[in-house]
Amino acid sequence: MSTSLKNIVILGSTGSIGCSTLDVVRALANRFRVVGITGHSNLELLKQQATEFSPDFVVVSDESQLGNLQLPATCQSTILAGQDGIVDLVTRDDVDLVVSAIVGSAGLRGTWAAIEAGKTIALANKETLVTAGPLVMQLASDRGVSILPVDSEHSAIFQAMQGGRASEITRIVLTASGGPFRNHTLKELAGVTVDDALAHPTWEMGPKITVDSATMMNKALEIIEARWLFGLSIDKIDVVVHPQSVVHSMVEFCDGSVLAQMSPPDMKLPIQYALSYPQRWQGPATKLDFSQAFACEFIPPDYERFPALLLGREVAERGGTCGAVLNAANESAVARFLDGRLEFIEIVSACRDVLNHHDYDPNPDLERVIELDRWAREEILRWKP
Ligand code: NAD
Ligand code: MG
Repeated sequence: MSTSLKNIVILGSTGSIGCSTLDVVRALANRFRVVGITGHSNLELLKQQATEFSPDFVVVSDESQLGNLQLPATCQSTILAGQDGIVDLVTRDDVDLVVSAIVGSAGLRGTWAAIEAGKTIALANKETLVTAGPLVMQLASDRGVSILPVDSEHSAIFQAMQGGRASEITRIVLTASGGPFRNHTLKELAGVTVDDALAHPTWEMGPKITVDSATMMNKALEIIEARWLFGLSIDKIDVVVHPQSVVHSMVEFCDGSVLAQMSPPDMKLPIQYALSYPQRWQGPATKLDFSQAFACEFIPPDYERFPALLLGREVAERGGTCGAVLNAANESAVARFLDGRLEFIEIVSACRDVLNHHDYDPNPDLERVIELDRWAREEILRWKP
């Protein structure tokens, strides 16, 4: 097979998406050259990845950990550190595509620098668009940069959208697994522990997004992500609970046709599609088995038990500083919950309170967004029920 190699950087290579990206690269080794990888704390895994993939650069994003990364003599990679190291890496001339797979708004700076430098983005880090969607999309448009979704729902929508014209789309429908507490009563939700919240029924993911799936804040963030990525108003964005996670999302066109994208719940497929786009390649993702009977259910979401969804809709509609505040409040509240210092159901109430009393600005610049991100995190630390 004669193909030119795509030169890629993986931000957050030691995470769940980062590892799945390297699974795709391993299976399609003749397609890619890994220019750089980054990790924050799991330096043992970062070392293993550097040894296997021989990237030109390895970034330890937590500078205080720099001394703990010892690469074997056979590994020629240059080690860089901190957010500055990430920026130096993504802006290199030989980089074609950057996989943005850091968790949280910590991923914003590297993604922003990559867009500024004109690199194609495979975007897993939804918090970047939730925090600064309009600014990021404007920058991408100014630089002629494609932002290709990795989030499975947005990848599904992106794929289904190719079945018609933008002006013919009447609605997109994001599917949600409903998380492990889909059938919990409000009383049962009040007793959820950290261990309960970390056990997801269909997806294996990092801890933050796993808790977000349990509160359904993940779907709220995805509503906001879709709002900016596809430029759709909130009245064209719906959510449906689909516990099997086989239909990854749908697009409805004006004639009533609904196009869906289906595949087993395996992030390797949406990752690969962002890497292969506009082509499709035979790859390592698992395929659906129609020789076995299986059902697909679609259930309307319950906004009373999962009020995060209402927050997502409201923030997508108001825009401005709301996304940065909701995202940072949620990151901070999830960290507090994982530390045992906040109840499960307080995550969303705390976010609601912080959002309600922030100093709203409909058109913030990046500096203001970053300031409010910091403010919202501190507010959550002070929050009392
Ligand atoms: P994870 O926790 O497994 O991995 C996070 C990665 O980010 C790690 O490599 C970690 O070292 C790095 N990191 C953490 N804090 C950092 C910091 N302050 N600075 C720099 N790097 C830092 O998370 P994940 O599940 O792989 O999710 C990554 C992103 O992809 C998130 O935005 C998530 O919402 C999105 N996403 C994940 C999935 C999934 O299936 N895991 C699906 C869709 C979208
Ligand atoms: Mg998703």
